[in-house]
Amino acid sequence: MSDEREMDAARRIVSGAAKVMVITGAGMSAECGLPTFRDAANGQNWDELARTLATAEGFQADPQRVWSWYAGRRQEALRAQPHAGYTALARWQDRAAVGIVTQNVDGLHARAGSRDVVELHGSLFSFICVEQRHPVEGVGACVETPRCPLCGSLVRPAVVWFGEMIPEEAIWRSAAAWEGAEALLIIGTSLAVSTARAFVRSAERRGVPIVEINPAPALPTASAVLAGAAGTVLPLLLEG
Ligand code: NAD
Repeated sequence: MSDEREMDAARRIVSGAAKVMVITGAGMSAECGLPTFRDAANGQNWDELARTLATAEGFQADPQRVWSWYAGRRQEALRAQPHAGYTALARWQDRAAVGIVTQNVDGLHARAGSRDVVELHGSLFSFICVEQRHPVEGVGACVETPRCPLCGSLVRPAVVWFGEMIPEEAIWRSAAAWEGAEALLIIGTSLAVSTARAFVRSAERRGVPIVEINPAPALPTASAVLAGAAGTVLPLLLEG
């Protein structure tokens, strides 16, 4: 299909659905200056990250290195500004039933004004202790790895590391967002992470149409593919 026909098809799908679930991945924030993990043109060294920084073992081996790396990511996320696609999604939620589920940890959806965003992989801006997973507040500016005021164990960012489970609350909230959805819009994910893939499989089984936005599309079974950058394509799709 031509780009225009794909856009028409995508518009029909999202405007004809009584409820839409949106899943966003790292590509959604690429134009805000936050690097993706697996995108060859823009990504960081995935293996290095996996081995040393984004695992419980990495934190145990060198907590201060991991704490400092996340402090840097937090600064980057705070410097980034949500692009026009983020704003278009937030405005869409004001006029339609739209559930947003993100794999991102950067907080940009909420900063753009989106509500009830499910952060499947946690947030750079929340913290828990390693021993008891007590929530800990007010430690984002700490230079040294802080300790939990309740149990004394080290504090880490409340993000889901490799090998860890997605928190139960995020699972049931994303299931609620998916319940009754008549279309699935996936944006900026390579679908390498099993969480997003699970919703895609469910959509395929239920015959729910899928629209993908990605300059390097990852899903051959999508009903419409908008092969472009989220910051440009989303405003055209939702407000064009
Ligand atoms: P990924 O890194 O595996 O894949 C990124 C995808 O985005 C690629 O398919 C790429 O083609 C696409 N992309 C690149 N630029 C784009 C653009 N401008 N518009 C639309 N799409 C674009 O991403 P993933 O599948 O989300 O998996 C990465 C994991 O790493 C996630 O679990 C996420 O939590 C984490 N992560 C988060 C951030 C963040 O919070 N901003 C950044 C990096 C990684």
